[in-house]
Amino acid sequence: MRILALFIGLVGGLLSAAPTKQPNIVFIFSDDHAYQAISAYGDTRKLNQTPNIDRIGTEGMRFDRALVTNSICGPSRAVILTGKYSHINGFYNNTNSVFDGAQLTFPKLLQKAGYQTAIVGKWHLGTDPTGFDFWQVLPGQGIYYNPPMLTAAGKIQNTGYVTDIITDASLNWLERRDKNKPFMLMCQHKAPHREWEPNIKDLNFDKDRVYPEPKSLFDDYANRSKQVADNDMTIAHTMTPRDLKLVRPIQLDAEQSAVWDAYYEPRNEAYRKANPQGKDLVRWRYQRYMHDYLACVKSVDDSVGRVLKYLEDHGLAENTIVIYSSDQGFYLGEHGWFDKRWIFEESVRTPLLVRWPGVTKPGSVCKSLVSNVDYAATFLGMAGLPTPAEMQGRSLTPILAGTTPADWRTDFYYHYYEYPSPHHVSPHYGVITERYKLVHYYGSGEEKTDLFDSEKDPLELRSYFGDKEYVTVQADLEARLKRLRGELQVPEKDDPMATGERGRKPGAKGKQAGAAKKPAEGIK
Ligand code: CA
Repeated sequence: MRILALFIGLVGGLLSAAPTKQPNIVFIFSDDHAYQAISAYGDTRKLNQTPNIDRIGTEGMRFDRALVTNSICGPSRAVILTGKYSHINGFYNNTNSVFDGAQLTFPKLLQKAGYQTAIVGKWHLGTDPTGFDFWQVLPGQGIYYNPPMLTAAGKIQNTGYVTDIITDASLNWLERRDKNKPFMLMCQHKAPHREWEPNIKDLNFDKDRVYPEPKSLFDDYANRSKQVADNDMTIAHTMTPRDLKLVRPIQLDAEQSAVWDAYYEPRNEAYRKANPQGKDLVRWRYQRYMHDYLACVKSVDDSVGRVLKYLEDHGLAENTIVIYSSDQGFYLGEHGWFDKRWIFEESVRTPLLVRWPGVTKPGSVCKSLVSNVDYAATFLGMAGLPTPAEMQGRSLTPILAGTTPADWRTDFYYHYYEYPSPHHVSPHYGVITERYKLVHYYGSGEEKTDLFDSEKDPLELRSYFGDKEYVTVQADLEARLKRLRGELQVPEKDDPMATGERGRKPGAKGKQAGAAKKPAEGIK
């Protein structure tokens, strides 16, 4: 008996000492993908179908309240890499911020833990990627057609559509990786970022469907602080001929141009003949915008399908966590806008879907307040690594495993800086709870505060700040905001570089916007 017990003990010891297999991580990340344009999120407009992205949620977890800390491209990426807010990682805006690649990031920690790491696609942080065994990234914003890309070995030229090229390069890396090591791949799309240029093979994908309009397409911006109206990101006034496909992109070759012209030219001719004005013009632009944007989303969804199929075909699906997210949300005509930046729901909230076979129950939904500041800690947690004390986010791994910690956050801090170029959106910060938002604007030379109640006003069309029925709520939100700013070490005054107006990068685009354009006659 004693020998048997010794034998069992020995085998048990060996088993527990055996390393658990570290899961692979595939992070598929798009640029400006509104949750309203993912069918899994069930938007009332039913704008499109995204069967492949939806699969990640139906086979895993859909997060309904994934919020970003600063709703704009570069800053969101810096937050994800570092697990820290902009005022700590130093990347505030797309105008003059440059990412300090020497700081601690989650890919560096995964590398140390034995992971192979790669990033392919949009990077947009100004300096070369660090912490990756392989990188192939678009210069700056990148272009949609025949895009050049940067690698450690130099610049390469590609032919074709950017989403396909990023997918091909991602799968190529998976194919030639060291198969004895776990991997972490960041597959980061340019689509569906402005100017929303579709894959030319998808131009007729919607067969000239007429898209339902959002209820607030003709928002008059009443009942809120003046800063809400004072910006330059409207369908009515800000969209350019290039945004609207009234001019052909110069990057297309002759063959691609012919397909482009065959699709757009007859439709543009009809537009010029009809010459719509006022609200009709906004409506025409909205339809063109939706066609182009959703065609770009289709390319991303097709790419997700290819990645999922690759994992299945190569026996990797069971031990690979797949995450789909975007750098922020986007306006698809709500409030008359495109673009992002604001604390309001469509831009502060980003899609997040995670498939973790064997850990996450298929079809789960999480309604807790989670954030892109949590991603770094989460990816480390997935690999069995602790969260470094200096990171400000928290691992989502317990939530993904089915238990939300009792002390999970019930309020969230948001802070946007870039101003006045390029879209004249006032710098602002605020607190978000499950039901309310308190937002403090400090641009346009005057400080103002708004309070939103998502139960009474889900479209965020009126402020209850100063309303006597909200005295208690307002005081509670103000206390939460103060506490969060202290906990997160937000400086009382912004870094002078934060808005992007000082130390502008040489060649940085963006006009010096004055006051936003005033609504034209007939468009209010
Ligand atoms: Ca973006």
